[in-house]
Amino acid sequence: LFTYAPAPESPAAAGEIATSYGHFIGGEFVDSSGSEALKTVNPATEQVLAEFAQGTDEDVERAVTAARKAFTDWSALPGSERAKYLFRIARIIQERSRELAVLESIDNGKPIRETRDVDLPLVAAHFFYYAGWADKLDFAGYGANPKPLGVAGQVIPWNFPLLMLAWKIAPALATGNTVVLKPAETTPLTALRFAEICRQAGLPKGVVNIVTGDGRTGAALTAHPDVNKVAFTGSTPVGRSIARQLAGSRKKLSLELGGKAANIVFDDAPIDQAVEGIVNGIFFNQGHVCCAGSRLLVQESIQDELLDALKRRMGTLRVGDPLDKNTDIGAINSAAQLARITELSAAGEAEGAERWAPECELPGAGYWFRPTLFTGVSQAHRIAREEIFGPVLSVLTFRTPTEAVEKANNTPYGLSAGIWTEKGSRILWMANQLKAGVVWANTFNKFDPTSPFGGYKESGYGREGGRHGLEAYLDV
Ligand code: NAD
Repeated sequence: LFTYAPAPESPAAAGEIATSYGHFIGGEFVDSSGSEALKTVNPATEQVLAEFAQGTDEDVERAVTAARKAFTDWSALPGSERAKYLFRIARIIQERSRELAVLESIDNGKPIRETRDVDLPLVAAHFFYYAGWADKLDFAGYGANPKPLGVAGQVIPWNFPLLMLAWKIAPALATGNTVVLKPAETTPLTALRFAEICRQAGLPKGVVNIVTGDGRTGAALTAHPDVNKVAFTGSTPVGRSIARQLAGSRKKLSLELGGKAANIVFDDAPIDQAVEGIVNGIFFNQGHVCCAGSRLLVQESIQDELLDALKRRMGTLRVGDPLDKNTDIGAINSAAQLARITELSAAGEAEGAERWAPECELPGAGYWFRPTLFTGVSQAHRIAREEIFGPVLSVLTFRTPTEAVEKANNTPYGLSAGIWTEKGSRILWMANQLKAGVVWANTFNKFDPTSPFGGYKESGYGREGGRHGLEAYLDV
């Protein structure tokens, strides 16, 4: 059905990492106009993987100009034609998923089992899902003939580099926008590999542009006057600064920010399943998850039984080499993130909470943190209020559903929550009371491209995923 460039000749060639990278602008890999380079390291070994460009204002200017130029033709294509490109990209991602999974694990530190079984399938699923929307936008709830916004400036974090890219790029392209995306400064490699995939898919030049660099490059992109839409995923302080920067600019803005989710376990929950859900909730991806279940709220009557079972399970978790298929917890993404987790954990002890972690050997080089549990946590403690973004669980207790709701909502964030109970009526009541964009019942960290995702309060605004995710890129 489609003709597109063949994949690089051998898997080895496909998997190779260049020693240095420039940007991807107007369909070409180009040098930066500046001389500053950053390094990305493998957090499991501290070895430098590659150098990449610190994008300058001029680089951002070139990329936005390329995206603007491409917008005229891209937005005029029938949706059915745009869909073909998105389907192609999705297929190539599937074909190259092994290579992409390895690259993601090396650059980010996350276990290969997760990149292979979670990240990459979801990345492809997002492109397939939004490909399906591209020719169905008229009269689908967005008006007769909804229009794209123009050039989207997108800034993403390091915790799910390729998946965050997919959440941003797939709906933007399906709706006829063009894109300049800036990946995080510790994980640029899969976004640059994705640029290759755009070329392989024959995507018209300038429809997707990738400019690398740190927050300075991100700020230049979000501030650029010819950007019509800003989509940001990252920390709440940076999100706040972007909202201030954009006030009065007429740019459309969506923000996906931090979280401090409660995972709430009632006394009628099956303990073994709840334990698996708690472990998945906080130790998946080293806890580098915005919707991580970082506060365990356990009903007082089952506290001892649940914590005993949880500790036993935590003792079986394997921390180590991300490329080992048996690894449960990989490397912390950066020295800076490790320092933050260490500092907040020390604050937990200093404020009187009791710290527990299983004995386990950690590799010598690299950035590592044991799966850690704090009991005796009060709501005033920093570890109950601040996002740790690491494998650290704070345990609080409650007696009644009302108290559980009060404690769960006692946070400036509102991204997600989990409920473990056999009672359906209680689940429905709780889901209505909880100020959280996503509420999982008897499961946790389940994602699907058909579901909108996003937060209340300081977790941001706007939704990504599902038909709601299209609205962020349309004039309705
Ligand atoms: P961060 O805010 O430090 O950085 C995110 C991105 O913003 C990076 O690409 C960075 O270079 C860029 N940036 C930094 N300063 C900027 C500025 N002034 N203007 C424009 N861009 C700027 O966050 P992080 O440490 O990379 O990511 C972790 C945070 O992301 C956590 O708080 C987490 O909860 C959040 N997150 C949220 C979601 C969600 O969907 N809600 C998903 C993943 C991560």
